[in-house]
Amino acid sequence: MIVANRKTLEEILNMLKPYKKVLLLGCNECVTVCATGGEREVGVLASEIRLSRSKDAQEIEIREQTLERQCDHEYIDQIRPFVGEYEVILSVACGAGIQYVAEKYRNKVVLPGVNTTFLGVTLEQGVWSERCQGCGECVLHLTGGICPIARCAKSLLNGPCGGSSNGKCEVDKDLECAWQLIIDRLKELDQMDKYEEIIPIKDWRTSRDGGPRKRVREDLKL
Ligand code: SF4
Ligand code: SF4
Repeated sequence: MIVANRKTLEEILNMLKPYKKVLLLGCNECVTVCATGGEREVGVLASEIRLSRSKDAQEIEIREQTLERQCDHEYIDQIRPFVGEYEVILSVACGAGIQYVAEKYRNKVVLPGVNTTFLGVTLEQGVWSERCQGCGECVLHLTGGICPIARCAKSLLNGPCGGSSNGKCEVDKDLECAWQLIIDRLKELDQMDKYEEIIPIKDWRTSRDGGPRKRVREDLKL
């Protein structure tokens, strides 16, 4: 899932300063799971904004709306009947959702209520951890199912770097060395032969270096 953190109330209030009619838009997917931008968080944020504005004797009207997804036009279209009543949209979806809303309503200012951070997993309630950087050419079959790009602080494809100590990363002593994890896992799987293989220099064009990526499935197109 995509993990995001809500911006501080101060940042949000600053962005909203010129506006009195706000459509606050949540999303029922990843940002709900990471408790950042779902229906509940939309309600909490709306209350915080109202309270702060009323303390400053400044009026504000906020409509709370949470869509199934903000990254699909069929759901974004649901706000079309009333979006015109609002000066601004404050979206608490991930960066993709925020941008897609902005693309669909080009005459509206769309503000980000969250900082989108990473693709990760839920370790336990309230704790999420990065697992993938969407490099576009997965090497997990070579690394015991542990991503060296997302989990090694230096994104080394062949490691460790020599700085790890007692299984911890030299960049952060609280961080497990990804390459130690990979070696341990390959040993468990009896696949240390894979560790002997040098992973070649990566073609980063499948990642960010090739510009924005697009995927087309001709078989699914209408
Ligand atoms: S190798 Fe690439 S696609 Fe696979 S988990 Fe790591 S970043 Fe994600
Ligand atoms: S210590 Fe391990 S995780 Fe940290 S940078 Fe070196 S190889 Fe990567």
